[in-house]
Amino acid sequence: MYRSDILTSDGVAPGSIVAVFGPSSNFFGTALFSSSSQIALRLISTNRVDDFLTVLRRRVEGAIAYRKSVVRDTNAYRLVFSEADFLPGLIVDRYNDIVSLQILTQAMDANPVRESLISVINDLIQPTAIAERVDPRVRELESLSPRRSGLLYGEKSATIFTMNSIQFHYGALEGQKTGAFLDQRENYAAAAQHAQGEALDVFCYQGGFALHLAPHCSRVTGVDSSRPALELADQNAVLNRREIEWIEGNAFDLLKDYAASDRRYDCIVLDPPAFAKTKRDLESALRGYKELNLRALKMLRPGGVLVSCSCSYHVSLASFLQMLLEAALDAHRRVQLIEVRGQAKDHPILLNVPETGYLKCVIAHVSYLL
Ligand code: SAH
Repeated sequence: MYRSDILTSDGVAPGSIVAVFGPSSNFFGTALFSSSSQIALRLISTNRVDDFLTVLRRRVEGAIAYRKSVVRDTNAYRLVFSEADFLPGLIVDRYNDIVSLQILTQAMDANPVRESLISVINDLIQPTAIAERVDPRVRELESLSPRRSGLLYGEKSATIFTMNSIQFHYGALEGQKTGAFLDQRENYAAAAQHAQGEALDVFCYQGGFALHLAPHCSRVTGVDSSRPALELADQNAVLNRREIEWIEGNAFDLLKDYAASDRRYDCIVLDPPAFAKTKRDLESALRGYKELNLRALKMLRPGGVLVSCSCSYHVSLASFLQMLLEAALDAHRRVQLIEVRGQAKDHPILLNVPETGYLKCVIAHVSYLL
């Protein structure tokens, strides 16, 4: 519930667990209150909740039990996905023996909640270490005092995790997000099934797609603008005994140059950062996606495979497919959709919170117009 919907919250302390009533004093439920976010109330129950710490423990247990039923072939996955696991403002990821958590709301930041979380994670997962990743901007928006990323438990901050039989280095206190893009895990495996020949992984970060494509392709090149990401990508390639070429550069410029110099590939992956962070960015985001997809379509050999992703919630699947259609028309290519995919199952989508579904991944077979 947004700040603008609240009639009165007089005397309610930041981060309180509150009972919420409608205008005619009808009880709505129990919510986590934020005194500074535009999202002032995050509903946690339609009943009264007297003992939040017990609810927290049960929900973490439920979230972990759900993963046991849907997660395969990996020791790295999301254990708790905020609203989608009925724990608004809490993200918990597991990377082999290290658990990494992010706290995004005032209520979840309270000391008793933190202590309870560490104890329940230790009981259920028994990690070697628990790290906290801090997003300074979120803390500022929530009016929380500044804090550094660091270990909350244990001493080990680096490990190696395995997904789909591929190994990755993980540093709990480095990298973007909590370290890797776990939401793409099932898409990596799907892309690998269709890839062959020469492959280009654009926006490759630490090599998630590139490393999965390498066993199936004759040559793989990864492109990213971040040098530290590429350094880790290279260490990951060494770890898996693969030879992959890494290029540091701006993807837009590089695709333009490559397309102009008639380079051709059999498989191209596009996995850019979220171009539409807000609804207002939608049009320029779609222009950005179209430019990338148009160039990639032109650079694919007949029968090539395009793997095109968007992690912008504000770009719906329908508008993403429409963008791809327009790019295909301009590029004079025929595009057959092999798979239209979303985020991995450890990032569940809660039906009544559409914002929990954000990732799109289209795998397509591309041929020339007849
Ligand atoms: N495909 C990756 C995740 C990509 S995240 C995986 O599966 O792990 C987006 C990446 O885009 C980041 O690594 C970021 O460094 C990179 N990036 C952002 N803007 C870029 C640009 N203009 N050119 C090249 N890379 C860019």
